[in-house]
Amino acid sequence: AFMNILFCTSEVYPLIKTGGLADVSSSLPKALLQLEHDVRLVLPAYPAALRQAGELTELAQLKLAGTKKPVRILLGQLPDTEVPLYLVDAPDFFNRPGSPYTQADGKDWPDNAERFALFAHACVALALGQADGNWRPQLIHCNDWQTGLVPALLSLEPNRPATLFTIHNLAYQGLFPAKTFSALDLPDELWSLESLEFYNMLSFIKGGIAHADWITTVSPGYAREIIDETHGYGLAGLLRHRSSELSGIINGVDNDIWGPTSDPLITRRYDVHTLQNKLFNKFTLQRDLGLSVASQPLLLSYIGRVVEQKGIDLILDIMDELFKHPVQLVVLGSGDPEIEAQLRSAEQRYPRQLSVHIGYDEQLAHNIEAGADALLMPSRYEPCGLNQMYSQLYGTIPIAHRTGGLADTVVDFNQESLAAHQATGFLFDGDSPEALLATCLGALSLYRNDRVDWWKLVIAGMKQDFSWTQSARQYVELYARLVNSRQGDEPEGQVANIAFTQEDEQSRHLLH
Ligand code: ADP
Repeated sequence: AFMNILFCTSEVYPLIKTGGLADVSSSLPKALLQLEHDVRLVLPAYPAALRQAGELTELAQLKLAGTKKPVRILLGQLPDTEVPLYLVDAPDFFNRPGSPYTQADGKDWPDNAERFALFAHACVALALGQADGNWRPQLIHCNDWQTGLVPALLSLEPNRPATLFTIHNLAYQGLFPAKTFSALDLPDELWSLESLEFYNMLSFIKGGIAHADWITTVSPGYAREIIDETHGYGLAGLLRHRSSELSGIINGVDNDIWGPTSDPLITRRYDVHTLQNKLFNKFTLQRDLGLSVASQPLLLSYIGRVVEQKGIDLILDIMDELFKHPVQLVVLGSGDPEIEAQLRSAEQRYPRQLSVHIGYDEQLAHNIEAGADALLMPSRYEPCGLNQMYSQLYGTIPIAHRTGGLADTVVDFNQESLAAHQATGFLFDGDSPEALLATCLGALSLYRNDRVDWWKLVIAGMKQDFSWTQSARQYVELYARLVNSRQGDEPEGQVANIAFTQEDEQSRHLLH
């Protein structure tokens, strides 16, 4: 049966994006829509969202905890899709330019707890049919700490829909001082170790982990890792406790946006039969970046946040050795100001071999995928990772740490995997600069001495199917199970998806 699904997220491509969550928040709903489910997004009404979400209809003005002013619920559409998009319009909280989480100086907004608590209250109102009289979801799919309060608040509602909480990165937990709990005026019963309390702090992510009907992570590998103390960030115990309701579903790639045969942002499009165009893209990229233009050096790349998680410091550590060889490197990213400064100064030392772009640049990201020979992803941990999948589709060979989603999506090069035409990249163990260096030099040697084998990796990667088809089906199966068992729980004669139940009538006082 087709289901009504509400997808709650704090960022979505192309409206507002800081990382992989935004990509998933557009591409998964698109795939679910194709499977004919009625999936809708809800997002805070950031200025960028209000500008780009098409014609907006006001559905309700809600009185919500945390603000005296009415909160408008608007209905628009995710650009270039048929996916309906609810916007939670509370200008005091969300009418701020730039990043959804941080101010111009890179520091978190001091009222992030208030902002995402308000967002959660709005999601709950939608979940209970109080914000859109014409539509009621059977399942709420929440993502990361910004939506963690939604399953917690819904757990107090007898006629709630089913809830799923997806962890895209366990290290970001939404932790606030205990006094914020009182300031937010949350129900007292949520202050306990089984709920939002985390070592006398308020933890938003615990609301999702403790209260959702089911928890997923964005790769099976990461789901196994986070029940272990080293990757559990203090939550391994709770996650182990819930391990019978925890699973991993790998993210897919949006083939409308990423793919060398149709990408409008790259210089020359190509497929496995026209790889000379990829070489042309390499030359163009080298020229544009001020690197020596030649096929012979191995052009390595890095795209992503420049933070310790991603192992960018390991790349800095090996540069002096690496650049003794015919190797070039392009880095695109932003994040930790100190690492950014180190990258800039390294660029001064190696002007013909290293090109550094601090900032966010969609077009350059695509051109790097299309022009580079290999992509470095030495992440210390990686819940899923998208660029290693994009790069394979573009024939750009990933060199990655054997962890989380990277280990799930890259097939390490060795004689057997090569003979079976399965090898797609290079994986290394441990997070030492030595291991990364050795693997880069191994890749260089293959590139220079066994070009035919190198092409086998390129082609095996380009033939991978990373589309959402399979993963979206896995989500649908899970949704259906959760919706069915939720309906089984419900008192006789009640069906979760009927709008205008008695509760709706009683809760009309919420509407202005
Ligand atoms: P994370 O979500 O941890 O940041 P992912 O690999 O899951 O990492 O997703 C990162 C996404 O953000 C990818 O789509 C990547 O191309 C994009 N991205 C990251 N940094 C930049 C940047 N500086 N410019 C353009 N795109 C970027």
